[in-house]
Amino acid sequence: MPDITAPKILMDHGLKVTPQRTLLLEALMSLDEHPSCEVIMKFMRFRYPNISLATIYNTLKLFKEKGIIKQIVAGNEEIRFDPIQKNHHHIYYRDTDKLEDFEDKELDKILKNYFSKKPVQGFKIEDITIQLTGHSEVTKTQTKTKQK
Ligand SMILES: [Zn+2]
Repeated sequence: MPDITAPKILMDHGLKVTPQRTLLLEALMSLDEHPSCEVIMKFMRFRYPNISLATIYNTLKLFKEKGIIKQIVAGNEEIRFDPIQKNHHHIYYRDTDKLEDFEDKELDKILKNYFSKKPVQGFKIEDITIQLTGHSEVTKTQTKTKQK
């Protein structure tokens, strides 16, 4: 269970709490691995057949505008949604289409440091996120773990 509830997030972002918004945000928070629009639609239509696709779509758009969710473009150029507020990076597995969160405080520090020394002219950086694209190395990792 997330320690922060959907209605609280909606209120914190100056939105009126409606059942549809709450249900959609809860769905986004419960669907792991950054769901695509299609996954969200399927999930919502299955659970709540009375909510129209247009409502879901418009609510997603609203959440995005309010900064409740972030849009990420995965390596296959598909748009995924991320309800996590905290700044973090991503790892994209091309073989499994999995988009995982990735945090590295040291990397954040290096990036911040770099751009404070070498600012991009005429541009104010608000957020630096990196997406690593690659594929899983299942056998190698498993062998390594076994040796330990
Ligand atoms: Zn994420």
